[in-house]
Amino acid sequence: MAMSTSVSMSTCICSRKMVGSEKGLLESCKTLRHVKQVHAQILRSKVEQSNSLLLKLILCCCTLPSSSSSPSALHYALSLFTHIPNPDTRFSNQLFRHFSRGPSPESTLRLYRLLRRNGTLLDRFSFPPLLKAVSKLSALNMGLEVHGLASKLGFHDDPFIETALIAMYAACGRIMDARLVFDKMSHRDVVTWNIMIDGYSQSGHYDHVLRLYEEMKGSGMEPDSIILCTVLSACGHAGNLSYGKAIHEFIKDNGFRVDSHLQTALVNMYANCGAMYLAREVYDKLPSKHLVVSTAMLSGYAKIGLVEDARFIFDQIVDKDLVCWSAMISGYAESDQPQEALRLFNEMQRQRIVPDQITMLSVISACAHVGALVKARWIHSYADKNGFGRALPINNALIDMYAKCGNLARAREVFENMPRKNVISWSSMINAFAIHGDADSAIALFHRMKVQNIEPNGVTFIGLLYACSHAGLVDEGQKFFSSMINEHDISPQREHYGCMVDLYCRAKLLRKALELIETMPFPPNVIIWGSLMSACQNHGEVELGEFAAKRLLELEPDHDGALVVLSNIYAKEKRWDDVGLVRKLMRQKGVSKEKACSRIEVNKEVHVFMMADRYHEQSDEIYKKLDAIVSQLKLVGYTPSTSGILVDLEEEEKKEIVLWHSEKLALCYGLISERKESSCIRIVKNLRICEDCHSFMKLVSTVYQIEIVMRDRTRFHHFKGGICSCRDYW
Ligand code: ZN
Ligand code: ZN
Repeated sequence: MAMSTSVSMSTCICSRKMVGSEKGLLESCKTLRHVKQVHAQILRSKVEQSNSLLLKLILCCCTLPSSSSSPSALHYALSLFTHIPNPDTRFSNQLFRHFSRGPSPESTLRLYRLLRRNGTLLDRFSFPPLLKAVSKLSALNMGLEVHGLASKLGFHDDPFIETALIAMYAACGRIMDARLVFDKMSHRDVVTWNIMIDGYSQSGHYDHVLRLYEEMKGSGMEPDSIILCTVLSACGHAGNLSYGKAIHEFIKDNGFRVDSHLQTALVNMYANCGAMYLAREVYDKLPSKHLVVSTAMLSGYAKIGLVEDARFIFDQIVDKDLVCWSAMISGYAESDQPQEALRLFNEMQRQRIVPDQITMLSVISACAHVGALVKARWIHSYADKNGFGRALPINNALIDMYAKCGNLARAREVFENMPRKNVISWSSMINAFAIHGDADSAIALFHRMKVQNIEPNGVTFIGLLYACSHAGLVDEGQKFFSSMINEHDISPQREHYGCMVDLYCRAKLLRKALELIETMPFPPNVIIWGSLMSACQNHGEVELGEFAAKRLLELEPDHDGALVVLSNIYAKEKRWDDVGLVRKLMRQKGVSKEKACSRIEVNKEVHVFMMADRYHEQSDEIYKKLDAIVSQLKLVGYTPSTSGILVDLEEEEKKEIVLWHSEKLALCYGLISERKESSCIRIVKNLRICEDCHSFMKLVSTVYQIEIVMRDRTRFHHFKGGICSCRDYW
């Protein structure tokens, strides 16, 4: 036998005298191998195998430094245990405790089965560790059996067992059963309350957490700081700020020591409730700002769109983990700063932090938002290389990303190659066709979906109705709307009515739109009045437009869009006095029109242009190109159309302004740049493209023989050979 230096066994334990020293020998065992060596030595020697010797060996296995990391020591202990003829219950309980705390709680259940097979008795102390192991494994059937046995043995009213049963039921997702045990208890201590309250919190029943906490206080039991943490967390999840504040007051009034757990819970609660100024008060007082609490702060800021503050916290965190990076990236992605999200993702790559699915989804959505196709391709291949390629949510997001980046073919490719598709995949693809104005394909895909027996949902119909609305397919839209209700039993939501109103508005059926608004089962919201209002503006229906804008302003007096549209309607009618009144109102309310901007991606760089923007480093060349294009286009009959300019200006000034629209500048930059990737120019604009830019793009596509893909606020325009995919209907 190979001897280890740490267990010197040169002195053989073959004499009775040595038995006293094997305790010391066992204590010096540091690995399972040593224990096995000692065991073998005992077996070979003539030392009588007393139970106590075996017990010591077993305990030695359980307390090995490595037993917390390797379950094999516990297995070995269990196998030794089988050699004990009549084990003492006290001893088996000791083992239960060891096993249930260890890394392999299954050993507890194995021991239990062994004891049951041998008919060995269990006592009241056997149950709590046994139930603890069941909880860890969420092994409900085993738990039910153990509960039955405890009742049979008459231990059903032992408070320790009852408390363990509550924890077990809660852990196995049977919160009602946990509550039954809880309600039957005659004596509950603070631990029992704690476990029941935590059970409700873990299962997402936050209102029950608060109710039970009240009940607990009513029963005269004093909460401890663990319970307070749980209740604070429930307040955060339920968004119950007033209750959370009350708990904070209670903590102050009752002189609780506010340790780091309570501080974190307070920050989390305030952050989850969106009360960042209160969260900040607690946070600023923290002596050391650990990762968890800082991440809570940063997520809180990010969630309410205060990305600057989130970034401030983020930059102060020294050892950033994935959760922290992910929270910051999704903060940017959701706060309309997708480029920052992508930049940060690159930074995260450099720090060699591996993203998870949530981060990937944020990044894909950011990319969709920017509409940068080259980046989109890169992210797609990154996802494939890093093992996300087969995940359903990732693929669904990729469809949406490619569609929004203007590459319908790639969206379709992802869709067709998916190993598995769900209703979201189908709906995303239908929506992709819809925003590209390909209503025929959207409808064809819907029929294919039906053939494959995929039941459409409300989102599917939003895509379909949108497609019909943007292609002017009034009859088809009406048919889909009624089949949704009658065949698919989906009750239309506001969004569906919104699409229908939009469908009528775009087809200039404004009275029909108004009729639908007046008969639908929901009070019309801002968006619905907004569609009618914009349609009236586009079709020059002043009276109805004014009516819609006023209804909208009743719902939301500060609605900037309505004020802008109202002023635009008046401007189109040259009612400059009314325009002045509305403008004054807007100034008073601090409302300003959303600034138009266009983005173009050239050689992996995204460039942003505002109207009449001169910030770009190649600004001079851009304007020179613009002049050249305008002269070229004038040769084929182009004259700037100023009907979309709704301010009181001289005609010549208007002509200048219309030429400086951000999408024209982006286009010129695209044309003067050497584009490595493709011959196609892709532009993303945040607002609706105006009539002049639309005809400008059409002419450029034919005069310069290039393809231009442009995404505006609601849809895509593919300009090629002098025509646009929207058939001038947008
Ligand atoms: Zn324009
Ligand atoms: Zn178009």
